[in-house]
Amino acid sequence: MKTGRQIRKLTADCLTPIKERFMGKIAIDKERCKGCQLCLVTCPKKVIRMSEGFNQKGYHFIVCDDAGECTACALCGRICPDMAIEVYK
Ligand code: SF4
Ligand code: SF4
Repeated sequence: MKTGRQIRKLTADCLTPIKERFMGKIAIDKERCKGCQLCLVTCPKKVIRMSEGFNQKGYHFIVCDDAGECTACALCGRICPDMAIEVYK
């Protein structure tokens, strides 16, 4: 038996368009990034690219171009050897 709160949550989930339900965004710690590009080649949506700028260690760091396409699959965050990416839903 579901509580009223659970039912309201289920109803809200059903009314949210599927794309919005799976949208995500990433937060990049540019000072941790060493520009190895592992995340860039791993991202299935190809929303990660190298920046023109440098971080304080002299590396090009990554940026995320289109958070609207990110599915929060978290592959980028898992593959990063420097834990420079956090993924949010
Ligand atoms: S979470 Fe997935 S889709 Fe989003 S930027 Fe990372 S690898 Fe790409
Ligand atoms: S995998 Fe990590 S260190 Fe390598 S480019 Fe991506 S964020 Fe930077």
